[in-house]
Order: sequence, then structure tokens, then C-alpha cells
Amino acid sequence: MGRRPAAGPSGRAGPRPAGRRGTVPAVDSPFSWSASRHDTFATCRRRYYYSYYAAVEDPEVRRLKKLSALPLWAGSVVHETIQAVLEGHDALPSPEAQEAIVRGAVHSDMLNAWRESESGPDGFRLFEHEYGVPVEKEDKRLAVNTVMRSLRSFFRSATLAEAFAVGRKAWLALEDLVSFRVGEVEVFLRMDLAFRDRAGRVVIVDWKTGRAEGRFNEVQIAGYALYAAEQGWVGDPGEIQTELNYLVVPRARRRTVQGKQLEHARRFIARSAADMKALLLDSAANLARIEDFPMIDRPRVCRRCSFRRLCFPRADVAAVEATAPPP
Ligand code: SF4
Repeated sequence: MGRRPAAGPSGRAGPRPAGRRGTVPAVDSPFSWSASRHDTFATCRRRYYYSYYAAVEDPEVRRLKKLSALPLWAGSVVHETIQAVLEGHDALPSPEAQEAIVRGAVHSDMLNAWRESESGPDGFRLFEHEYGVPVEKEDKRLAVNTVMRSLRSFFRSATLAEAFAVGRKAWLALEDLVSFRVGEVEVFLRMDLAFRDRAGRVVIVDWKTGRAEGRFNEVQIAGYALYAAEQGWVGDPGEIQTELNYLVVPRARRRTVQGKQLEHARRFIARSAADMKALLLDSAANLARIEDFPMIDRPRVCRRCSFRRLCFPRADVAAVEATAPPP
């Protein structure tokens, strides 16, 4: 699990202003775009400000940004374990070895991280521990179940068998953070696995631990295809196949990319980036001001937000809790 820098001052209603009073220039991190950035921007402008501007300057905001809620954490454990398996094996491990990996993820990785989180804020930290949210036995059971079920599905998946069959030399990406440009904007995305199949097509796989389609899956997928096209992996978008592999269900949905999807994705990203830049005090300097990024009035969302302490001083947290209906 990742480590965080030393915590800064806490218990205040906002991050320490940097540069001009109340403004945060992201001097060392110029503007870039990602699907998760779009998602955050669409959910709450203030959360977006904290995540992509205040967190650059303020260690405490950065620490809060890294909090992980139980379901997200389960997904991270699955991804990290899959990455380790793919990096360390050239063929499917034996059934006994598979079971040892699954049990290791739960009984060692998760247990150690849980204890680290419980012990205090100086390390991996769950949202639930940070905010004193009671974790029911059922919630823990669900997280453990997600990890075990996902990893067992992964080992049984036709996609994994195919990746091992074509061999490592045909793998194009493995948990790589890659970037490409749409106009002036640098776009970042994480590619779980990409390989060339026996027919010479490129297969780009996204492992999912949720059951439902995410709101921006289509854009994310088109982003993969844009990157593959830009890298020259294929001569024609029709040679790219994207796969959303829902491990918990389990179900894999593989699709051939259409040329018009790439154009749609380019337009979507350009428009989204323009909307984000429109709120900046100085777009060229990537300079943001907290007051230009309003809070939302959605207690149910705020209740599960890592930054709620910054938005709601202690006395008001109880009010947020009281007005929010159960999830
Ligand atoms: S607590 Fe609510 S208003 Fe504040 S950043 Fe989070 S979602 Fe936005």
C-alpha cells in the first residue's frame, strides 16, 4: 500500500493558501485530463479543486485525497494482486498456487493494511477509520468476498488464458500509466493489460470489480483506443478490441472499436477540458481559486467524501450525518 508524506496542519475549513492568497497554482503539475478527473469535476467542483489543486500544495489535503473507502480498497487489492501475478508468471499457476495467492491477498495484504489503517493516520488509511464510520461485519465480508471472487474469476478467465497463450512478448502494456495528447491537453490513463492476439489485433483489457457499468466507461475505452492508435499499434481502429472484464459477476464484454468512437472521444475530452479550464483564474498558469469551485448541496455525496472535514467544520458534521439518508 502507498505511503503518504508527513501530515500538515489539520482541523481547518480549507487548505493553506499558496501563492496569492486563496489561490493555488499547480506549478509543477500543468493541466492534464483523465477520466477520473472528469468524474470528480462532474460530481463536485469543490472536490475537484481539493483533489487537483489544493492537494498539490497542502500535505493534509493530499492525505485526505488518498483515503480509500472499503469497496475502492477491495478493487485496489485485486488490481495489485493481478499485476503481481502477471509480472511474476508466464503460465497459469497451479490450482494450489492460485488458492495461496487468493488467501495471501486476503489474510496477509488486506489484514496488514487494515491494521495499518486502524493504527492511525500515518500510512495507508481507510475513509471509515479516518472518519470513525462504523464498519459492519457485513461490509467487511463483502470486501473480502469481492477480492476472493474477483481473483478466482481472474484465474479462470479466458482472457488470462489467452494472454499466457500469446506469451509475454506479445504484451503491449501492463498496469502502465500512459499519456497522449488531444490538441493541447495531455491525457493520462492507466492501462491494465494490452496484448496482441493471434490474429494480430490489439486487445485492451480493463479489469472491473464493480458489477455495474461506470458512467465514463465508453470514454475510457475510447481513450485506450486513441492511445493504441497514436502508438501505431494498429493501422486501423477496427483492429483494436477493448474488453471490460467484470470479475465479480463474472462477465467479459469485448468490442471492436469503431473509427467514429475515436472522434467522439476526442471531442468529449476537448470539451471536458475546456469546461475545467473555464473555472481557472489563469488558465495558462493553471491557477485556481477556491471560491470559483462551489460546494454541492447533496448530503448523501458529502457523507462519503474524503474532504468533508474541510467543507464542514466539526460541529456541522453531525448535521450532514443527520440529513443524509442511508446509502
Ligand atoms: S464534502 Fe461535499 S461539498 Fe465538500 S468536497 Fe466533498 S462532495 Fe464537495
